[in-house]
Amino acid sequence: MTSISSDNGLKVVSLRLAMLITTGRDECGTRPRTDGPRWSLAARHPRMPWPRCDSPGDHELIVAVRGGAHSYPGFSTCDGGIVIDLSPMRAVSVDPEQRLAIVPAGALLGDLDAATQQHGLVCPNGAVSHTGVAGLTLGGGMGRMMRRYGLTIDNLTGVDILTADGRQISVSHEENPELFWGMRGAGANFGIALSFRFWLHEAGPSVVAGAAVLPADRAYEVANTFREWSVSASDDLTAALSLFVAGDAFGPDLAGRPIVAVAGAHLGDDAAVTRDLAPIMALSPTVTTFSRLPYLQMQTSDDDYYAWGQRNYWKGLLLDDLPRDAVTVLLDRLDAVPSSQCGFGMITMGGAVARVGDDDTAFSGRGANWWLMTEALWHDQSDDDAHFDWGRESLSRMQKVAASVNYVNDLGEPGEHDLREVYGRGRYERLVALKREWDRDNVFRLNQNIAP
Ligand SMILES: Cc1cc2nc3c(=O)[nH]c(=O)nc-3n(C[C@H](O)[C@H](O)[C@H](O)COP(=O)(O)OP(=O)(O)OC[C@H]3O[C@@H](n4cnc5c(N)ncnc54)[C@H](O)[C@@H]3O)c2cc1C
Repeated sequence: MTSISSDNGLKVVSLRLAMLITTGRDECGTRPRTDGPRWSLAARHPRMPWPRCDSPGDHELIVAVRGGAHSYPGFSTCDGGIVIDLSPMRAVSVDPEQRLAIVPAGALLGDLDAATQQHGLVCPNGAVSHTGVAGLTLGGGMGRMMRRYGLTIDNLTGVDILTADGRQISVSHEENPELFWGMRGAGANFGIALSFRFWLHEAGPSVVAGAAVLPADRAYEVANTFREWSVSASDDLTAALSLFVAGDAFGPDLAGRPIVAVAGAHLGDDAAVTRDLAPIMALSPTVTTFSRLPYLQMQTSDDDYYAWGQRNYWKGLLLDDLPRDAVTVLLDRLDAVPSSQCGFGMITMGGAVARVGDDDTAFSGRGANWWLMTEALWHDQSDDDAHFDWGRESLSRMQKVAASVNYVNDLGEPGEHDLREVYGRGRYERLVALKREWDRDNVFRLNQNIAP
């Protein structure tokens, strides 16, 4: 593995990357160390061939680009190739007057949140602060404020990238606008993002977040309320429905039992929170944890649970509807969990996400109402197959009962899905044209790959 740090600044990074990408000379002849750290120990990226360097011009060089290393399949590392590790480039700068953040490509969500909250500002991003800004943004970026402020890409005003032929260019609505369209949903395909520019919004320092928890035998009743309420609530509220097995923290009445929870994050004042949560409180939950807390605390509240170095299998779907049959599938699959840290979470979309035109960015699925995640988390390698099988079967059964598309950042396994279906034919063909223009040789292929 070759790591390139930002110690000497972006210029040096760009020069070295340009040389590596265009010639591959750094690596030919000396076998690099394989692999690199990945968030999930169960990530299964394809084994890449050792680059062939037998004859002049024969430089089949595998290049992986690493931001936060949270790719589920493990795309940001490779065996026998080059890992372009941007993770040391993390210093976010914020212009509070312009409400603009400049974010280098190695920054984590926590770096972005910490820098923007110093000015009472936010850029909507994901739910776990050790996720990379780069990978999350290039695929879309969903999170706890998306109904109010949209996807992360909806707040992206520009990105500087290094192209496959070694040029550093700016991409925005004004410069290379077609490429800017493609960067917002399929961005890992077209170059190495060096830094991002985001519009910011006022939020915090405190927000209301928490959950209402009930036994899973009330799941149909809760889902009935959630189905209408979550999509018609104020945009200040982004709510989620989860089904999982309660841990000890849920108290003696629920610990060890299957439960259903309605979680939410609310940006409004206390009166608005009380009004908007009333239909859920009317269900008389067994436990409620909604409270006012610092924005940064909310954004890091799940970090330890989803810590590095565990074994994970995650898969997602965007759902248009939540029929009774879908709840039945979720309950059946909850009965079949191979271990206790497996379950489902469904975050509400709509609001600002749906107000952006479907063709304005390469992201596919803006019209969906919920983002469903299937999560399996375990610790022993010998249990891998049981958890992979459970995740696959769960999503395959959900797909049969709920009309859906996939979120490209949530495709748990490489090559498993036809990207024509994920993006939709028209969008996919537009992406292929961009790929041919900007990376005809498919230098950047360790991603949800648009074949040129
Ligand atoms: C614990 C956890 C929580 C998550 N929560 C959310 C969430 O709330 N919302 C959400 O939308 N998604 C979420 N995700 C999914 C997440 O968006 C994707 O896994 C994303 O790809 C991670 O980005 P990364 O930079 O950490 O990953 P990496 O593994 O570093 O990169 C992912 C992909 O992007 C490419 N890439 C990375 N950096 C660059 C760059 N600078 N230029 C070009 N290509 C690059 C990589 O080559 C790879 O193909 C979560 C994932 C995890 C593991």
